[in-house]
Amino acid sequence: MIEIEQTKQTLFEHGYEFKQIIGNGGFSSVYLCHSTKYNQDFAVKQARKEKITKYEFNMLVSLDHPNIIKIYDVFEDECSQYLVMEYCPNGTILQKGKLTYEQFIFYSKQILNALEYCHSNKIAHRDIKPENILIDNYNNAKLADFGMAKIFDENSKSDEKCGTIKYFPPEMFLFEKICPFKADIWSLGITFYCM
Ligand code: ATP
Repeated sequence: MIEIEQTKQTLFEHGYEFKQIIGNGGFSSVYLCHSTKYNQDFAVKQARKEKITKYEFNMLVSLDHPNIIKIYDVFEDECSQYLVMEYCPNGTILQKGKLTYEQFIFYSKQILNALEYCHSNKIAHRDIKPENILIDNYNNAKLADFGMAKIFDENSKSDEKCGTIKYFPPEMFLFEKICPFKADIWSLGITFYCM
């Protein structure tokens, strides 16, 4: 268990006031924090150093797209790394439930734009699913959770199994190598079906 008092102290030293826990993932916790300097709320993701994917930090910091979660700050203490992100107070696409046709068109365009941007930067997300699409303050979709994301050459194939089983492409079940970009598109198809 990550010590919450140590966490609050580290956040405080970097100018963030702990407000509440938003949720816990497999390897991380996400907190709602307030910056007195900017008078604004942020979501801060904390993960143990040995668990954190350097990719998630480096990649997210380099990405700049209106439909991809923005990173504002990165720091660490003895045990953990912290990623300060824009806070999306309106939950995930999953929590929206079944959408109207108009809502679906609105969000799906934004998600497609975000994924096109990632792929044009040679980044495969590798965990596209409704839970990883957040809704911001202005009702815009934001692609999040780049913990599995990785850079690939255009024609490279991978035999790594990652993502979420419901969203796996058929080749993964057949233990075949997959194109990570095409696998993202398959997962996006299932995501759209859910929406
Ligand atoms: P895992 O990363 O292990 O697949 P997860 O996606 O649930 O699991 P996190 O990405 O750590 O784990 O997220 C934990 C919770 O925090 C989720 O409910 C997620 O929706 C929420 N969350 C993550 N980032 C933000 C954000 N920027 N704004 C608001 N809520 C967020």
